[in-house]
Amino acid sequence: MAQRDPYEVLGVPRDSSADEIKSAYRRLARKYHPDVNPGDQSAEEKFKEIGSAYSVLSDADKRAKFDRFGTTEDSPQDPFFGGQGAGFNDLFEMFFGGAAGGGRRQQRMGRDGGDIEIQLDLSLQDVLNGVQREVTIERLTECDACGGKGGEGGAPPVACQTCHGSGMVSQVRDTFIGRMQTSAPCTTCRGQGWTIKDPCKKCAGQGVAPEQSRVLITIPAGVENGNTLQIPGQGHDGMAGGSPGNLYAHLRVKRDKRFERDGQTLYAAVDATFAQAALGHSVSFEGVVEPHEVEIPAGTQPGTQIAIKNAGLPPLHGGRRGDLILQVNVVVPTKLNDTQVKLLQEFAEVSGEDAPKGESRGLLGGLFGKKK
Ligand SMILES: [Zn+2]
Ligand SMILES: [Zn+2]
Repeated sequence: MAQRDPYEVLGVPRDSSADEIKSAYRRLARKYHPDVNPGDQSAEEKFKEIGSAYSVLSDADKRAKFDRFGTTEDSPQDPFFGGQGAGFNDLFEMFFGGAAGGGRRQQRMGRDGGDIEIQLDLSLQDVLNGVQREVTIERLTECDACGGKGGEGGAPPVACQTCHGSGMVSQVRDTFIGRMQTSAPCTTCRGQGWTIKDPCKKCAGQGVAPEQSRVLITIPAGVENGNTLQIPGQGHDGMAGGSPGNLYAHLRVKRDKRFERDGQTLYAAVDATFAQAALGHSVSFEGVVEPHEVEIPAGTQPGTQIAIKNAGLPPLHGGRRGDLILQVNVVVPTKLNDTQVKLLQEFAEVSGEDAPKGESRGLLGGLFGKKK
């Protein structure tokens, strides 16, 4: 939408003072206000345009921006006078979600129940197999004395006498731009549109009362850290026919130091001695729930990855498990006895290497008595 020059709209020169702009705006707003021109579409358009122009020129930053760039990209988002030039009635719609003084929200008496949120800690085993958890939560549950109606003896809510069920009251005020109709939430019913005439003594008219409640939650296999389960209808009960809220369980999968997870794939490290890596061997690795025999082929290099099929985690909605990827960590011994040193030196010699001296252990270590 092309923005009209706000100076032109208000009919003021570019070097006008803030006061001059304000008085021009007041004069025009009074003239074109919809209450003064009922049913006049063009007056309403004009009124909106005036509001929009004033929102630019009354704001020093926006005015400066317009002076420099000939436009203010901010004005369409302005909550009070949008780019469309919202009038005062639109303003109330924005705040209260209905027409000013309107009756969109009074159809139903009573109240929906709120949601409850909890957190559940899970292990990788839980993720692998799925798990059931029984949790105890404090829920607002229907009051048995009034059957959730809120009134003594089960009397239901009645339409508020002050606002006749709309939840809003309107006032006509005289303002500097003329007579204006404004709306505000009804204070008698706090905007609900209904009241409880004779509140139930047990629940004080709330229709619900807190109660410890046990809920069995089934967590499917394959969930991820940060997933949220929705358990419909297990939140707080509503009152007077309102629907219950939901229970939301936020899942936190505890980190298992031995594994890194990437979706259904698990990564872990498996140790092999130098001899096992060189000669080949079968080593045992404890998976998430079951042991695995891992075949380490002769000549395995450090960092080699060995995949164990179907030893990872299942997908969320069932299916084949992912893989477990083991990275071989060749362990270099940190302590050697004399025999081991001797054998390794012989090994080096027959391999055609210069025999390593064994700086801090073995020969020199023996000479200087450093051995433990
Ligand atoms: Zn009650
Ligand atoms: Zn009311």
